[in-house]
Amino acid sequence: MNGLMMNMQLSIASIAEHAERINGDVEIVSVMGNQPRHRYTYREAFARTRKLSDSMALWGLEQGDRIATLAWNDYRHFEIYYAAACSGYVCHTINPRLFPEQLAYIINHAEDRYVCIDPDFVSLAESLADQCPTVQAWVIMTSAEAMPETRLPNVICYETLVAAGNEAFQWAPLDENAACALCYTSGTTGNPKGVLYSHRSTILHAYAAMMPDALGISQRDVVMPIVPMFHVNAWGNPYSCPMAGAKLVLPGNRMGDGQFMATLINEEGVTLSAGVPTVWLGMLAHLKASGEDVASLRQIIVGGAACPLSIMEDFDHYGVEVRVGWGMTEMSPLGTVNASMDSRESLGEQEFAKVRLKAGRQIFGVEMKIVDDEGHDLPWDGVAFGSLLVRGPWVCSSYFKLEGSDAHAHEGWFETGDVATIDPQGYMAITDRIKDVIKSGGEWISSIEVENAATDHPKVAEAAVIGHFHPKWSERPLLIVVRGADSQDLTAEEMLAWFDGKIAKWWTPDAVEFIDELPHTATGKVQKVKLRQMFKDYVFPVTGA
Ligand code: AMP
Repeated sequence: MNGLMMNMQLSIASIAEHAERINGDVEIVSVMGNQPRHRYTYREAFARTRKLSDSMALWGLEQGDRIATLAWNDYRHFEIYYAAACSGYVCHTINPRLFPEQLAYIINHAEDRYVCIDPDFVSLAESLADQCPTVQAWVIMTSAEAMPETRLPNVICYETLVAAGNEAFQWAPLDENAACALCYTSGTTGNPKGVLYSHRSTILHAYAAMMPDALGISQRDVVMPIVPMFHVNAWGNPYSCPMAGAKLVLPGNRMGDGQFMATLINEEGVTLSAGVPTVWLGMLAHLKASGEDVASLRQIIVGGAACPLSIMEDFDHYGVEVRVGWGMTEMSPLGTVNASMDSRESLGEQEFAKVRLKAGRQIFGVEMKIVDDEGHDLPWDGVAFGSLLVRGPWVCSSYFKLEGSDAHAHEGWFETGDVATIDPQGYMAITDRIKDVIKSGGEWISSIEVENAATDHPKVAEAAVIGHFHPKWSERPLLIVVRGADSQDLTAEEMLAWFDGKIAKWWTPDAVEFIDELPHTATGKVQKVKLRQMFKDYVFPVTGA
């Protein structure tokens, strides 16, 4: 017997309708280059979104057609998110930091029909235009007065488009399984792959993200995503915030500027923010140097890469709770959050530090398991590590246009490519990417654990460990370190001695090399492929071993 409840379809338009009515006076504040901050309310945002949808309706697109964005976190990008999705099109967010060849590949693979670009990216778009035959027009996200000179064919002014629409425009009902957004993984090898989100997956993920032990977003919050809207929908913030009624602060093109981010936090009363570790390192450096505070900030979510303990301890000092989150583009992105159940007092300092560093527990809606090379389940004992598989209603079942031919899908589970342990309480800890794990004499060494221990050294700014050819062990860890600003005196001997008692003896790197900067991907991850290339001719010093 079925239940007798209404079968209403989950849709992005329902977030807009809810926020217009219930959270209409709540603000969205956007940083717009060097201009004064743009401020308006959810009511005004969605009125403009309806006008934009009305104008888009004249483009002659079919349901499911892709409208792409090359844009920063700001109110116009927010409007496109909603106008495209609520109209039944797909908002395809593109990472402008990718290489031009990757950008052209992605636009062509997605068959984007319109591309909306921030004025900052006009010359980038000009360099791509003649390689992108599916694109009918390029929408420049600015006012008629500020339209730049450009060689782009078929240019449309964003504000002219909005002005021409009717704010009484109504969105037609959609199937909840209809696609609403598309984001390509910024894979370091092979071609990028498209993850196609649905209205249903996006709404369920946005609900889950709001939960108290997930991101914990309420109407009392002021949320600033420092994670870009072009990377996994800014971890769902543009959906969760209007749902909850939280004020949204969108930092434009200044996301990498720690000083500016601290000022924004203080001036806008930001309570909650989310970003990758590099962002926080930049902000902490500024806070320490200036003596400034971030008094309104109560919590940050750190994800996208392992979070060093130093970031947590530094934020303890400012009274900010640090929650590690783990996820991926293929998971919308949230999988686990570490909202520690235990306190420093109950565990003692050392144990507490260990628990905090873990990626956290699965949030309701995501299931996980770890398996060995043969696909057998491994125990949740906090020791065994294996390939991490996930499933859930906001986990990708196939990549766009690769339906059914997917190496990542395993009998209803998605293979994340991460290697992890899970402890009896359900805390998952990432020990590696499968391709980065170091195989020394047939045993696995977790590069992340060695990196965490290395970055705890006060003289280390950043560190990475790669597996490097060794004649006896086939691979041994090579540690590559960027010294801190005033720590040029750090030696390899001092560095290696640091590991004593911190990691298993045989995990200690065989050698240390110092460089000025680590190569990073467009989303802030260390590019191990590039590092391996840089050190491919390296020979370990001969020792007695
Ligand atoms: P992306 O799809 O670009 O967001 O990258 C997802 C990958 O980032 C994951 O599969 C992990 O390898 C890595 N990652 C994300 N969050 C964390 C975390 N908290 N700790 C370690 N690695 C992480």
